[in-house]
Amino acid sequence: MAASAEVQRIVIENCAIATVDAGDTEHASGHVVVADHRIESLGAGRAPEGLENVVRRIDATGHLVTPGLVNTHHHFYQWITRGLATDHNLFNWLVALYPTWARIDEPMVSAAAQGSLAMMARGGVTTAMDHHYVFPQGSGDLSGAVIRAAREMGVRFTLARGSMDRSEKDGGLPPDFAVETLEGALAATEATVDEHHDPSFGAMTQVAVAPCSPFSVSTELMRQGAELARRKGVRLHTHGSETVEEEQFCKELFGMGPTEYFESTGWLGEDVWMAHCVHMNDSDIAAFARTKTGVAHCPSSNARLAAGIARVPDMLAAGVPVGLGVDGTASNESGELHTELRNALLINRLGAHREAALNARQALRLGTYGGAQVLGRAAEIGSLEPGKLADLVLWKLDTLAHASIADPVTALVFGAAAPVTLSLVGGEPVVENGRLLHVDEDDIARATRAEAQRLARIAAGA
Ligand SMILES: [Zn+2]
Repeated sequence: MAASAEVQRIVIENCAIATVDAGDTEHASGHVVVADHRIESLGAGRAPEGLENVVRRIDATGHLVTPGLVNTHHHFYQWITRGLATDHNLFNWLVALYPTWARIDEPMVSAAAQGSLAMMARGGVTTAMDHHYVFPQGSGDLSGAVIRAAREMGVRFTLARGSMDRSEKDGGLPPDFAVETLEGALAATEATVDEHHDPSFGAMTQVAVAPCSPFSVSTELMRQGAELARRKGVRLHTHGSETVEEEQFCKELFGMGPTEYFESTGWLGEDVWMAHCVHMNDSDIAAFARTKTGVAHCPSSNARLAAGIARVPDMLAAGVPVGLGVDGTASNESGELHTELRNALLINRLGAHREAALNARQALRLGTYGGAQVLGRAAEIGSLEPGKLADLVLWKLDTLAHASIADPVTALVFGAAAPVTLSLVGGEPVVENGRLLHVDEDDIARATRAEAQRLARIAAGA
């Protein structure tokens, strides 16, 4: 076919490059050649002479090129409930918001997904995820709505199909009207996997099985969810060890801590990643390392909800895969991942390891390769290497905000949020000069405001 013979190349030159490969290879001034969906070559100096079918040649002077950022934990629907219950801890914040969340419908979720995705993509996210676990009866096709929004934005996407079936009457935290039945949740999750999960190299949409948390999910749903995921060959995701209150809940209800509870229900393993993992003792961290269970570190959300500081330096030293997460924007109103590089570094330096906690390169690795690892996609994305997918970002570092910082990775992580001149997902442009190419930001802003107001009206009348 003509298409395969006529490979199309994009050449990017004169930029600093942080590959985030196994050796942390960097080039002060180098080139990246993209051929169709993949990285063909990269290195120091100018691109090789004589390349054919070059459709675009970019002089990226003043820029740093990195792998695209990978978000590993989010709840898109929360985009329309930002700025509420602003001075609460996790459990009080959840109890305050559950009644509103239980009134969401498909147009609301669609607008919220667009808002969440737009904010992240504009800031260099090329792989997004949504942990969606609120499915009110008759609310429409919520999973389809978020998947359509991600496709429209042009980013790679994992939908973690969540669920809750332990309500107040069973000793759980959510109100009875906000949960599904065990059978209903499992059947809907399996149908979502069958309809949307693409296991192939370069997939744009994948699905994970994702019961919400120990305090909102029955032990049976945890167990059967793990069995379902393994039968289908998809990944597992949940919240774990987020707060001291959760730890107490597990000890009272199950007679063990969260990590032992996860182990007893089949929830430790290299196909599992868990959000937060703030309250982990040495043996919890050893269990995660031994089983290669991944962690989505969400520093801003953990600070917003006064949850604590996750022991990321200890996890990394033990060999636990760690990525970064925005978390839902009801507990991280900025909704940005590139600023989480900085927040991860700063917040971890307030912990036990002080200035040795994390450096700029480690923070960049958390947001790229670490994220690819916990999503099970490290062979495809997360670092810039020949043969991998061309998911990459050109950060503009030659303006007032960064120009006087000599080291580009230091500028990106320690400095102000850097503008994105170009982001590619599988070689396809998603952002150019700070603007999203496939959607209109102002339209999305109007739609999300209207849907937030509609939800607030419905919730007030409930
Ligand atoms: Zn969360």
